[in-house]
Order: sequence, then structure tokens, then C-alpha cells
Amino acid sequence: MAKQPFIPPFGKEVKLSDYSTREAEPAGRDKGKKEIEELRLELEELHELIVADGRFPILVLLQAPDAGGKDGTIRSVFDEVDPLGVNSVGFKAPNDEELAHDYLWRIHRQMPGKGHVTIFNRSHYEDVLVVRVRNLAPKERWKKRYDHINNFERMLTDEGMVIIKFFLHISKDEQRERLQERIDNPKKQWKFRAGDLEDRALWEDYQAAYEEMLERCNTEYAPWHIIPADRNWYRDLMVGRIIRDRLNELGLRYPPPEPGVAGRTVV
Ligand code: AMP
Ligand code: MG
Repeated sequence: MAKQPFIPPFGKEVKLSDYSTREAEPAGRDKGKKEIEELRLELEELHELIVADGRFPILVLLQAPDAGGKDGTIRSVFDEVDPLGVNSVGFKAPNDEELAHDYLWRIHRQMPGKGHVTIFNRSHYEDVLVVRVRNLAPKERWKKRYDHINNFERMLTDEGMVIIKFFLHISKDEQRERLQERIDNPKKQWKFRAGDLEDRALWEDYQAAYEEMLERCNTEYAPWHIIPADRNWYRDLMVGRIIRDRLNELGLRYPPPEPGVAGRTVV
């Protein structure tokens, strides 16, 4: 059940029912929470190094069903990171100006520059998810987008971007509990929209759309990670580890000082 590692095999069919939504280490909660605290500090240091190194634009991209935990993951994993040099962007239904352009226009302009980390809360993948499930564009339009997206991400990574994509995988039961909590808890009601229930009624259609996205846009240059997300601590731990390990592969380094700086005395 709990398939690991979390990158699905390239070019193979993805069945989400094969992937667990639960932690693989049931008794690991306390240990896991400790490790998350260490991870946050590691990520803080790595982030400083990204900024200093200045060579890589880093994109962290999150997709999930409603109440899947995208906001919570961002808050938890980047808790210690210096707000300078990182930003998060949430993509809503496109406005008139955005609709007047191709669907990647608003996405491309939000991409990080070198030495910067940008987190996408939703993304261009909505254009093969909500757009598909809710018939916001004809099939002939959206079915071509998997190839566009692969080419787009290929271009970005060829030009030096690091793209780390996460799908937060929750069960239908877990979503029910979280949406109910949003309805019942006055401090969470602002997060709830009637549209959430309409989307929930389309759960199976969304799962099918996620599966095709995870299958067709899973590439060596920008792989998907399917994260078991029913338990917040486990989700944060897995996401944090994957980001840390990916950043550690980059060979980040502090740039050398200007000539003549080392050994000088400030008077
Ligand atoms: P939230 O993330 O809860 O603030 O909700 C944002 C809403 O915008 C979600 O219901 C998304 O499905 C919707 N959305 C995001 N991107 C698109 C898009 N390209 N087309 C239509 N709806 C979108
Ligand atoms: Mg929705």
C-alpha cells in the first residue's frame, strides 16, 4: 500500500488507490515532530545558502484536493526561513486580464529568479484539473496541455530552475472531517466555500484528473511526489525531507569574497 519512494515510476499508469494516505511509521509521531523541528533549521540554512549562492531559481509547487493541507504544509516547512528571498503565490480562478492571455502567462510571470524560492499554492496544473472536471474548457483544449506543461517545465529546468512538485494525497474520509471542522469552527469558517462541497461531490472525477496529471507530467527533470497527507506531521516531515535532500544535491556554496577582503581589519 504505502508506496515509497514517493515518485511514481516514469511513464507508468498511476492509480492513487495504490498509494497510502497514511503514515508508514504509525508510532513515529513524537520522533517525527522532533525531526521536523531540526528540518526547519536545516532548511533555514539551506535557504540562506541559496540566496548567497545566487545560481538557482527554486520552485516548490503544491497541488491537493480542498482541505488537503497546502497552506499548513507551507507554514510548517518554511517556518524558520527568512521571509526575504522566499514568497508564496496562490492561484485562484483567473481574472479578466489573465483570461485574456494563454493559461501559462500568469504562471510564468510568478516564477522565481536566481537565488530565490517561490512556493506555488496551486499552479498551472489547475488548467488540467478544475478546468477539466468542471468543463471550463473543451477537452480538445485541455488535453493538449499535458504536453505544453512538460515542455514549459523542460524549458525552465534547462535554464537552471529546480522544480519540486508535491501532490498531497488525502482520503475522502479525511476531507470530510476537515471540511466539517471548517463549518463547525468559527475561526475556520472563512476558509469554507460552498464550492468546496460541489468539488467534493466530484471527488472521483478529480481523482481521475490527478492520476492523469501524475502520470503524464511526471518527468525526470520535474518529478511528482505523492505525499501521504492524512497526518499533518507525516506530510510535513516527508515534504521537508524531500526539499532538503533535493537542495543538498545542488552543491550550493557561498561565493568567494571580493579579492583582498579576507584578512582585512575594520578600523
Ligand atoms: P483556494 O485555493 O481555496 O483559495 O481556492 C482557489 C480556487 O481557485 C479553487 O477552487 C481552484 O480550483 C480555483 N482555480 C485555481 N486555478 C484555476 C483555473 N486556472 N481555472 C479555474 N479555477 C481555478
Ligand atoms: Mg475548490
